[in-house]
Amino acid sequence: MSLLEVNDLRKTFVRGHGRRRRVVDAVAGVSFAVRTGETLGLVGESGCGKSTTAGMVVRLVEPTSGSVRFDGTELAGMPERRLRLLRRDLQMVFQDPQSSLNPRQTVGTILSAPFQIQGVEPDGGVLPEVRRLMDRVGLNPEHYNRYPHQFSGGQRQRIGIARAIALRPKLVVCDEPVSALDVSVQAQVLNLLAGLQEEFGMAYLFVAHDLAVVRHLSERIVVMYLGRVVEQADREELYRAPAHPYTKALMAAVPRPKVPEERKKVLLTGDVGASGPVGGCPFRPRCPRYAAELNEAERAQCADEAPELVPLSPRQSAACHFV
Ligand code: SF4
Repeated sequence: MSLLEVNDLRKTFVRGHGRRRRVVDAVAGVSFAVRTGETLGLVGESGCGKSTTAGMVVRLVEPTSGSVRFDGTELAGMPERRLRLLRRDLQMVFQDPQSSLNPRQTVGTILSAPFQIQGVEPDGGVLPEVRRLMDRVGLNPEHYNRYPHQFSGGQRQRIGIARAIALRPKLVVCDEPVSALDVSVQAQVLNLLAGLQEEFGMAYLFVAHDLAVVRHLSERIVVMYLGRVVEQADREELYRAPAHPYTKALMAAVPRPKVPEERKKVLLTGDVGASGPVGGCPFRPRCPRYAAELNEAERAQCADEAPELVPLSPRQSAACHFV
């Protein structure tokens, strides 16, 4: 059984007023599952709904509809009091370590909070456990009386990670945990997350805008575009033979010394949703395949019918009429 099962999850926001009022589907029916101990990467450009999806999984964002089952229990509609108990097993690492840590609390207080909130008394007491945690994530345990501003960005993210893993949760939702960090620090934090997973057997839902970042950690990857899943595949399948034109374009954006000629052709232009809502396939305004390779009848199909996610093999699905 999967540890996390997300089914047809939706979030709509209302934008504007009066005659300009319109309902926007930030997440338009997303489904995926995370197994015990694995990492599922959730990838897409900014504005694709991946962080809203992550927020709904931990119920920091209230879903409009759909189901989130964690460890066999439905989270949608669960009262906050029961949710608090479940948060022992379901934690989050935030994108911006600066704003996710209380600047008026010392690291010792920040890292003691999970134990106090959940009423857990570790063997030997909370303070020695906090110091052990700091040491495990690569911080000097002597610095437990310091405040977040006295640490670098990478060290602050280590504090956020220590707080998330303090109670050995079953699932950690990592929302772009390295995108605010210097490139030189990103690899260290990714290695730390990989080491902690190996040691404690936690599952990760790892959100990123960059396929290069999720590659090393994720066994499976879900690619989102405009609130929908456009491709879902095992890592090997996705990197060896990406199926959806959007995944191919994301792949082409991964920095590498030499981008092959055939990949250069699919570099993306424009922003997510830059052309506003369209009928048919949501990726159509930016789709290199639609623009250059399809005949008139095929283009009409893209314009009329929104493609469903269909299996191409047991380990890969894509939502495109012409993969
Ligand atoms: Fe491109 Fe058509 Fe496939 Fe959409 S359905 S991704 S427009 S080829």
